Amino acid sequence: EPVVKKNFIHQIVEEELNAGKNDGRVHTRFPPEPNGYLHIGHAKSICLNFGTAQKYNGLTNLRFDDTNPSKEETEYVDSIKEDVHWLGFDWGDREFFASDYFDKLYEFATKLIKEGKAYVDDQDAETISSQKGTPTRPGLESPHRQRSVEENLDLFVRMRDGEFSDGEKVLRAKIDMASPNMHMRDPILYRIMKTPHHRTGDKWCIYPMYDFAHGQCDYWEGITHSICTLEFEVHRPLYNWFIDQLKTDEYRPRQIEFARLNLTYTVMSKRKLLELVKDKHVSGWDDPRMPTVSGLRRRGYTPESIRNFAERIGVTKVDGMIDVALLEHSVREDLNKKAQRVMGVLNPLKVVITNYPEGQVEEMDAINNPENPEAGKRKVPFTREIYIEREDFMEEPPRKFFRLGPGREVRLRYAYFVTCTDVVKDEQGEIVELHCTYDPASRGGNSPDGRKVKGTLHWVSATENVEAEVRLYDRLFLDEDPNGHKDRDFKEFMNPNSLTVLDKCYIEPFVKDSKALDSFQFERLGYFNVDSDSKADKLVFNRTAQLRDNWAK
Ligand code: ATP
Ligand code: MG
Ligand code: MG
Repeated sequence: EPVVKKNFIHQIVEEELNAGKNDGRVHTRFPPEPNGYLHIGHAKSICLNFGTAQKYNGLTNLRFDDTNPSKEETEYVDSIKEDVHWLGFDWGDREFFASDYFDKLYEFATKLIKEGKAYVDDQDAETISSQKGTPTRPGLESPHRQRSVEENLDLFVRMRDGEFSDGEKVLRAKIDMASPNMHMRDPILYRIMKTPHHRTGDKWCIYPMYDFAHGQCDYWEGITHSICTLEFEVHRPLYNWFIDQLKTDEYRPRQIEFARLNLTYTVMSKRKLLELVKDKHVSGWDDPRMPTVSGLRRRGYTPESIRNFAERIGVTKVDGMIDVALLEHSVREDLNKKAQRVMGVLNPLKVVITNYPEGQVEEMDAINNPENPEAGKRKVPFTREIYIEREDFMEEPPRKFFRLGPGREVRLRYAYFVTCTDVVKDEQGEIVELHCTYDPASRGGNSPDGRKVKGTLHWVSATENVEAEVRLYDRLFLDEDPNGHKDRDFKEFMNPNSLTVLDKCYIEPFVKDSKALDSFQFERLGYFNVDSDSKADKLVFNRTAQLRDNWAK
């Protein structure tokens, strides 16, 4: 078991509870921007926010941070809700949108103007940013910084009423152009954007900046712990400055930063994931190779496996990279406990058992899940013609190969001992079929004379089966850190062989009526689940994970 790191956020919460802060209330929020699908990094944040509230009998709000209408869509809102629910968390009726607060934010901005703490700047974004200075050199004050309150109020109303075009004016806080913290150098509060919003339509043409919205929403919702990723640490003084202007009593939300999750062999920024989707490098946001929650779900990951992963990686203050093998380990561990076992042959080679009666079908007893005796048993049909895995036969087997070869005897799982008597080839010399004989006394997989065989193979009847397409996935990127190369695009490191489609696979009849997302262990091969592309006459399976664990414990 990897060591679970101590959660420093829980420590903070406990200290505050012990000190009687916030009347013992714990209230967190998960604040996604609806500009893409959730990824495994968001899942970490979801587990942390909902998990912390659960642990201390608190509440968690789901709040959509929809302050930038140019990138946000309702499709994303819906997918986010589905994914949070699927992960096993419920926000009840505490569903909010930053856009719910546009009126209140406008009012608050007006209050700041009246108090001489905000002003309208006519300069364009480029000029404003060129005046920002550097951390060691103070910035330049805007020529509009000393505008009168009356003029600012008038201009701000006219900004709202659509009198100016995009970028013509902004509202800025009047804080300190010499502050050592660049975020305190008169940050922009509002910008003009004549873009319809997915919820407020054409009502607004000015939109609050993230920094101006986030903390205020926290305050109005009574959030006690506003947990965010480390890059917001430098925004904290600004977060607190706004709350100082807003608060009317002792209560204030507290921003706490933690290290974001980075995973090896993938990218996690929504902008990059969107690029993969738009340029069709993947089939969609839920492509099973994507690190998105919907991709992992389609791939066969369980909510438990993702929650366990989030617990294992812990919460820290230091940015790092987590080995994707740990995520794979988590799903393997969970499916090992839960998955129904079946036999499936991915790369079939026909075997004719020449001394087995033609037309006979025997039902062999098979164990559904050796990890769970309650799962019981099932019947697997055995017939004269079966398929085995092509890789399980070698004409000239090397020393350590214990599977089938000419003249060799192996066990067919749950069935009989068989011995290979003939290798049938086509004109090109390709092996097309094997002939074997079976020992009727070895039914169930043991020979009464105590004869030992070294190999046990899985198999599927060639006449009693379900035909399927199986999709094998490899990492989407060949490089551990596709973002870590200066002057090179992350897409240059994509794995050209991340998807292999096997379109003639045979699975035992047990899987016949399975539905999308049903999970199985194909014995000896790995974990597979049913894909939503499945048709009544052709199931499609995704390989969730191989059996072998690459996670160094
Ligand atoms: P991205 O860069 O992928 O667009 P983001 O932070 O802009 O991510 P948001 O929708 O704003 O995406 O994120 C919602 C919440 O999830 C935020 O609180 C954010 O801190 C958290 N979050 C996002 N990415 C990660 C990550 N990789 N690890 C942990 N938490 C994350
Ligand atoms: Mg964000
Ligand atoms: Mg973002």
